[in-house]
Amino acid sequence: MHARQAAARPSGKAVHDLLIVGAGFAGMYMLVKARELGFTAQVLETGMDVGGTWYWNRYPGARCDIESLEYSYGFDEALQQEWKWSERFAPQPEILDYARHVAQRFDLKRDIRFGTRVVSARFDEAANLWHVGSEAGELFQARFLVMATGCLSSANLPAIAGMESFAGPTYHTGRWPHEPVDFTGQRVAVIGTGSSAVQSIPIIARQARELTVFQRTATYSVPARNAPLDAAYEARVKADYRGFRARNERMPAGFGSNLNANPASALEAGAEGRERAFEERWRQGGLGFTRAFGDIVLNAEANAYAAAFVRRKISALVRDPATAALLSPSQPVACKRLCVDSGYYETFNLPHVRLVDISQGGIERITPHGLVAGAQDYSFDALVFATGFDAMTGTLLRMDIRGRGGLALGEKWRAGPLNYLGLMVAGFPNLFTITGPGSPSVLTNMIVSIEQHVRWIGACLAWMRAQGRRRIEANASAERAWVGHVNEVAGQTIFPGCNSWYLGANVPGKVRVFMPLPGFPAYDEKCRAVAAAAYEGFELA
Ligand code: NAP
Repeated sequence: MHARQAAARPSGKAVHDLLIVGAGFAGMYMLVKARELGFTAQVLETGMDVGGTWYWNRYPGARCDIESLEYSYGFDEALQQEWKWSERFAPQPEILDYARHVAQRFDLKRDIRFGTRVVSARFDEAANLWHVGSEAGELFQARFLVMATGCLSSANLPAIAGMESFAGPTYHTGRWPHEPVDFTGQRVAVIGTGSSAVQSIPIIARQARELTVFQRTATYSVPARNAPLDAAYEARVKADYRGFRARNERMPAGFGSNLNANPASALEAGAEGRERAFEERWRQGGLGFTRAFGDIVLNAEANAYAAAFVRRKISALVRDPATAALLSPSQPVACKRLCVDSGYYETFNLPHVRLVDISQGGIERITPHGLVAGAQDYSFDALVFATGFDAMTGTLLRMDIRGRGGLALGEKWRAGPLNYLGLMVAGFPNLFTITGPGSPSVLTNMIVSIEQHVRWIGACLAWMRAQGRRRIEANASAERAWVGHVNEVAGQTIFPGCNSWYLGANVPGKVRVFMPLPGFPAYDEKCRAVAAAAYEGFELA
């Protein structure tokens, strides 16, 4: 695979160097990187525009909870200098505008086929080629296949009896219509209380005549304290944007070097010290709450102090004690992804908003006019599923991906995702997954993890070209050791201790395995070391 050969096979013709599935932030940067290295690449995207998760998640209140100066690409100095964010936390339309700006600036769309859903991929061992099929029956071929399909892109729509019978409109937050949805004067139901619900509920409540929220598990949320972006802060960051990005990459979650993480233990701070620290973080707003002490996600007792603090806040914010009690979670804080809100708990003080506990029996059935839960009949005009995603593996497993000897990925991952570094799967040569399970991915600023993976994949492909190698595949024993390592690291944290989507616990029947790897800097170092050791743990041909 030489750049000169690549030039003789222009994109759009028979064999590409790379096929990239997905035109979100991962796919777009992979395309930039492929071109920079002189490879031909074709991106296949289901949606009709770039943006990935920000193209699909258009629900009211959708917004990123990583600060906007960090939730953006760092690969191009001119790009990061010229783009201006309006708020501390960017709203979805602005992030989508940013994605479109990047696509235009780097002329990406000429190599992206929109409206093309990939349904199959088969590795041809004799020719070292991936044959990729779309839903419409088109076939594509490439030497390398890169899955840039996102971690949270397959909607989880629960299979509740009577689903089809509801007479009014139904929505899923992750598949929101492109035209405006107006709930004015309507009785609306929301099922779910994760991040998407926490963001949309306060906005839906402003429009709806009646809002009923069906809660299976109460959620911890911290205030966003969103505000217009501070111009002086922006100027300081932009004066040394590269340094700022580098400092963030040294943080455990790849973001928040500005948050003054306190390394001390919550156990040693004393009651007053803890209260002061948590209060200060609550006032600042955002995910920095867990940086109040160094052991909140590492030690159950430290975590319990933080959890109790949030529960006290909920009791203070919600006037009705029974509702406050129902909204108070019992699992460790941040064990399920911590939510960031603007007026979530306060919304339950409104007279037309009610909370229904479905933790015991769930929803029995959907009816033409509403639903039945706890033997009670509820009526409404519109139904919103804020029920999340089949995370990390769902999108990959919905495609029929077959490696050497026709091995199906679904078969290989029957007992949970097996791969090396979250990047490659033994038995599936020349197939890369950007932010795959087994990498830090969803426990970090996604764009930091995406850029790290794209750099690694790009360097690997360039190295293979220089070495005259045509095939790379994870080694089965390196893979087994890696999955063991992920479990061991996760086991040292509070993360595996509740029914989260990190574990696949939100999808009935999904294998319970902790999928992301905590700790970005150590992971990045490991990836560099593997590359420096001529791709140790991989088999090259
Ligand atoms: P989620 O966190 O998985 O929340 C789904 C909610 O639906 C949970 O409350 C869940 O209850 C409930 N649910 C699922 N199936 C149900 C069923 N059959 N019956 C009743 N309730 C059910 O999904 P999400 O809110 O879409 O968020 C997913 C992730 O996307 C977030 O954790 C975050 O990483 C990302 N996200 C980020 C932002 C942001 O940047 N601000 C915004 C939105 C999403 P259980 O807890 O009991 O399972």
